[in-house]
Amino acid sequence: MLEKKEILDVEKVIRDFEVITKDAENVQRETLKMILEENGCAEYLQNLGLNGRTDPESFKACVPLVTHKDLEPCIQRVADGVFSPILTGKPITTISISSGTTQGKPKFVPFNDELMETTLQIFRTSFAFRNKEFPIENGRALQFIYSSKQIKTKGGLFAGTATSNVFRNSQFRKAMKAMQSECCSPDEVIFGPDFHQSLYCHLLCGLIFHEEIRLVSSTFAYSIVLAFRTFEQVWEELCDDIREGVLTSRITFPSVRSAMAKLLKPNPELADLIEKKCSGLSNWYGLIPELFPNVKYIYGIMTGCMEPYLKKLRHYAADVPLISADYGSSEGWIGANINPSLPPESATYAVLPNIGYFEVIPLKENVEEHMQDNGNVSFLSMEPKPVDLTEVRVGEEYEVIITNFGGLYRYKLGDVVKVMGFHNSTPELKFVCRRNVMLAINIDKSTEQDLQLAVEEAAKLIAKEKLEVIDFSSNVDVSTDPGHYVIFWEISGEVSDEVLTECCNCLDRSFVDGGYVSSRKVDAIGPLELRVVRRGTFQKILDHYLGLGAALSQFKTPRCVGPANNKILQILCDNVTKNYFSTAF
Ligand code: AMP
Repeated sequence: MLEKKEILDVEKVIRDFEVITKDAENVQRETLKMILEENGCAEYLQNLGLNGRTDPESFKACVPLVTHKDLEPCIQRVADGVFSPILTGKPITTISISSGTTQGKPKFVPFNDELMETTLQIFRTSFAFRNKEFPIENGRALQFIYSSKQIKTKGGLFAGTATSNVFRNSQFRKAMKAMQSECCSPDEVIFGPDFHQSLYCHLLCGLIFHEEIRLVSSTFAYSIVLAFRTFEQVWEELCDDIREGVLTSRITFPSVRSAMAKLLKPNPELADLIEKKCSGLSNWYGLIPELFPNVKYIYGIMTGCMEPYLKKLRHYAADVPLISADYGSSEGWIGANINPSLPPESATYAVLPNIGYFEVIPLKENVEEHMQDNGNVSFLSMEPKPVDLTEVRVGEEYEVIITNFGGLYRYKLGDVVKVMGFHNSTPELKFVCRRNVMLAINIDKSTEQDLQLAVEEAAKLIAKEKLEVIDFSSNVDVSTDPGHYVIFWEISGEVSDEVLTECCNCLDRSFVDGGYVSSRKVDAIGPLELRVVRRGTFQKILDHYLGLGAALSQFKTPRCVGPANNKILQILCDNVTKNYFSTAF
């Protein structure tokens, strides 16, 4: 009886969600009121002259749109331990460190109990919808989750990645138990000091509990792919450990070793079974269901910059469904995936109107004027005014602005989303791309999505040879005149110069932005360059970020390396083995 009580009442979660989404406009007003009442005494809001007003009109009139850079001095004072209320009424006790993989430098953002509660609300909501379609009875989850090192700021606040702050929270454990999604690995593995060792142990735990595994997950799809690529390298060692019941000496941390010793017993039958299964696979196709025969689905963020990993993930998953996890950021959550049966490419996120106050900037209506002046092309852009969450139009693209319980007010998140429809009166968003990840030399504006599509197209040429692009990045090289796009590829094997030249031409032709195509035609942008890097280069980039204190759970390969990200550019350039210039134009 006691156990039953702990199980999440999914019907109630869905009913609550229906209620808040039926009148999203009103819920938004109420949410803003609560945020401003709770935090009205904060210095930031006091200085803006709100004087206790909590209505959206006064809020928008007094509070400016900001980026992280604008808030940095305030957040730094919080981190330095200034005791008075700066951004929030109640003191902030924890700082989240965002991955910083898009900007090159990790950012501090406040984290508090209210943000933790919204995290759980999002998790519960998507689980409720997911479990209706893909029920998981009592079992375990193979979760490739890793905690970053927790540091203490100058003011004595704990700082870690947002995912680590969540994993460490006792509420998270309880919620995972209630969702029957408890991680099969012990805490010592999740919080282990070295991610390579933790990854190995996660795999080992998964194999030990192989029949009980109901889902395989991670925060981002990237880490699931990385885990099974690693499995390909270490599976024999894993089998040896299981056969003998002794952990490989490569795991050196005593806490991790003793936690694993409690689980690992000699099991030659299991070792034989895994060996047989692995030897029977063709190029590791269907590895996941082969190892975990009762797995119901694979779960993690699979949209946006994670889409390039879907092909490989599908290869490992065979017909096990892939379900994209929710949409959020270190700054706060936005929406839940309530249509789990949609493939990740079509996944949408329904905004929870009570977890923050959301506005969006319409992007399509950008006033763009292309002025042709004596052959020189210049470009003017004026940003239109933000609109309310419930005023959005289906089919249009917007940038998300967050106001939440964590001390962020009218904060431009930098993400582009597209409205695909409504659930009751709350919008369902498709993640499009990061707004600032952009290749631009002249009048061109190639987005992260343009880059992804171009790479996908060109990669088909090497897929014919059963090879794949393991990972990729880009940069604009303006040291040449005219400047040109550089695309870096790490490939899974040897490809002939002839095919790579074709790939290079294909990449160049596949950038569809009008500004790019017209600039290429008149040679205002030079021929695209494809640079092939050594195997393991992207692993070096990952290691570089982990060395800076990032956690694998939140890692996203930087898709466009700007000047601020010099170290990454250096790693890429130092590892180039061949380069090709396009002759497509
Ligand atoms: P971080 O700051 O490290 O927490 O990363 C947050 C960023 O990851 C967001 O601003 C998005 O750009 C991206 N992201 C988070 N959730 C999703 C999702 N479901 N689909 C695509 N991108 C996402």
